[in-house]
This record gives sequence, C-alpha cells and structure tokens, in this order.
Amino acid sequence: MSFRYGLSLFFMSVIPGAWKRAAAGAGLLASDGGVAPTIFAEMSALAVRTGAINLGQGFPDEDGPVEVLDAAREAIAAGVNQYPPGRGTPDLLSAIAEHQLRFYGLDVDPASEVIVTAGATEALTATLLALIDGPDDEVVVFEPYYDSYAAAVALAGATLVTVPLRAPGFQPDLDELAASVSERTRIILVNDPHNPTGAVFSTDVLTEVVRLAHLQDAIIVTDEVYEHLSFHAPHTPIATLPGAAERTLTISSAGKTFSATGWKIGWVHGPADLITAVLTVKQYLTYVNGAPFQPAVAVGLRLRESYFTDAAALLARKHEILGEGLRAAGFAVHAPQGGYFTVADATALGGADAAAFCRALPERSGVVAIPLSAFVSPAHRQRYAGLVRFAACKRVEVLEEAAARLAHAGR
Ligand SMILES: *Cc1c(COP(=O)(O)O)cnc(C)c1O
Repeated sequence: MSFRYGLSLFFMSVIPGAWKRAAAGAGLLASDGGVAPTIFAEMSALAVRTGAINLGQGFPDEDGPVEVLDAAREAIAAGVNQYPPGRGTPDLLSAIAEHQLRFYGLDVDPASEVIVTAGATEALTATLLALIDGPDDEVVVFEPYYDSYAAAVALAGATLVTVPLRAPGFQPDLDELAASVSERTRIILVNDPHNPTGAVFSTDVLTEVVRLAHLQDAIIVTDEVYEHLSFHAPHTPIATLPGAAERTLTISSAGKTFSATGWKIGWVHGPADLITAVLTVKQYLTYVNGAPFQPAVAVGLRLRESYFTDAAALLARKHEILGEGLRAAGFAVHAPQGGYFTVADATALGGADAAAFCRALPERSGVVAIPLSAFVSPAHRQRYAGLVRFAACKRVEVLEEAAARLAHAGR
C-alpha cells in the first residue's frame, strides 16, 4: 500500500515526536524507525513473481454499472473538469441525502449535514483530525481493523484502544467493550459490515455502542463502505438506532458499492456542527476531488433497487465458490455476513503461523492471501495467528480457478 509508505516517509522527515511514537506503537514503522515494509506490497510482488492469483488486495477485477461509467465520461466531455464546490457537487449532496432516506429512513440535510471526501479514507482521517484534542483522547476500535485506522489515529495524535473480535462470529464481548470505553474515550469507531472479518454486528453490539457513547459523551464514527454488500439481512446503519444520530458521523464511499475503488469519492454525514468541524480539516487536506466522478456517483446512488440487491447476491455467490475451494483444501472457513473478504483458519493445513503460510502459499497453491495479523496491533498478533484473509471480489472464473488450485494443493 503505497499510501502508508508515502505517509511514513513524509512524517519521518518533518515531524518528530508524538506522531512517530504513536506510529511506531501501532506497528507502522520498522524497529529502526524506518519505513515498515507492508505485507500487501510484499504479497503483491510475490503474486507478480509467481504468477499466482492475487486474492490479497480488495479491489474488483471488473467494472461497475455502465450508467455510472457513462455518466463520468459524459461529465468529462461536458467540461466538468474544474474544482467542484468545497462541500461537494450540490446534486451529489442531494443524492447522498436521498439515498440515506430511501434505504434507511435517515433524514439528512444536504446543505449542512453532509460533505463529499476523497474516499472513505479521507472522511475518516479528516474526522479524527477534527475531533481529537490530544494524546489523552482515546479512540476505541474493534480489532482486527482496516489498516488505515491505526495510522489515522496516530496522525491525529490520539491513543488507540482495541476491543478484540474473536472467531466464530467475530462479535465483540460486550463486557470487554464496556470496559474499554471510559471518560477518556472521544470516539468509538465502528466498521460494519466489517473488514477483514466479514462480520455484521448484532443489534446488541450496536445498541451497546450507542449506550456507551451516551454514558461517556463520546462520538460514534461508523465506516459503512460495505453497506450494500450485506448478504443475509439489509444493512442497519448505527445512526438509525434510538439516540444515535445526534452523536454519529456516518462514512461511506462509492468504491465498493459501484466497483470503482480508484475513483475515491466518499462522504460523511452527521450533525451540522460536527460536519463543519470535519470540513475545516478536509478543506486543507485535499480541498476537493473528482469533479467528473461526483455526478456519476449521484447517478449510481439513484439506481434502481435491483442493482444493489443483485450486486450483494453476486458477491455472496463468489464467497461460496471461494469457500468451497477453501473447505476442500482443508481450511476451516468463517463464512462472511458481508463485505469483500472470507477469513479462513489454516491451522489444519500447517498454517498455525499464517504469515509464514501466506508467504509460502503462492508457490504451494498459486494463490496470494493476507494473514489476519496484518490488521492487528503488534501486541495482539498471536490471537489471530492461524487466520488468513481471501478477497472474493474477483470474476467468477478467477475464483473457480483459485478454488481449484487451493483444493488441489490441500490434498
Ligand atoms: C476499502 C475500504 C475503505 C476505503 O474506502 P475508500 O473510499 O477507497 O477510501 C475504508 N474502510 C474499509 C473498511 C474498507 O474496506
């Protein structure tokens, strides 16, 4: 992930002290203070060298809806190529508000309660930078976590507090969750459906997050980029729970929903005062981005309902193909409830050390995957030592080939 590489290099040279210490603590820097090589870069290089199928990185290998792609081409041809307004193109702001009302019954004012960002990643980083006061502020996250979370928390100078998710089911223990939230908690950061585990959090978990946020006057930040890729039940935004909307910032993006991860159009919505705080940071991070993609994403958000349900059904089928291959090979599969990834336990295949297992897998089976330890703080890696993450967001024939290779290598 070149993003993290660049971030580390830049901050190594200009900012000593707090960020560096926090980043080192989060496992983002090498022990000599240099740039930590990421497992993603290592595994992608292995895929290229061995010709293995790359199920490491989570990006689709086919395009999204043609209406959305055409709208972007038309926007470029029509001259929509200069800076859009700072909050985002008004029509996209309206489309986001309409989408939240249509799917979830959430009432969002497009003029004051939503801004467009450079992907969910910028929405998250700008939110943390805007709301964190200093190192005494804690951000509670479920672990394993999406890899930009620890970096963004370190960048904001806050303290990361993790609550473990454990197989099977990857739900947090409610007592452990309650014990992790204190008067120091500024933000409870939720990612639902969850990357990398594929969990969808139960109503009990979401309700407890809201209760604890009220109790300690914390803000809920929720990353819902897989909102339309929930396989067994419609997605429930935490902002729809009683008492949640007033203290929740909801983040999503077009990347996963429309198979356009390179477009980097995201958004964040919530109470106007919090959105204003996020905007003050966001305007100096990127100012604006993706002018011709913004109207295209507005087209996407207004697509007929069947687009969204078909996309979820197709991805669920892809997970089944992958899961069958993994089971045939001898993995214990944790069938996901949502999102791009299937987690499997490689212990029965001699993969008790999944990092070493993943380094050998391309030669052994012609498939690349990522050990779950890549999404875990250094102190807790042992808990997830035998688990491997496989991306299912690839064409059916690619997954069938990967499943065949895995099953063959397992025998
Ligand atoms: C892919 C992903 C993101 C990044 O979204 P962008 O819109 O590409 O910035 C954020 N969070 C999670 C959980 C993801 O899987």
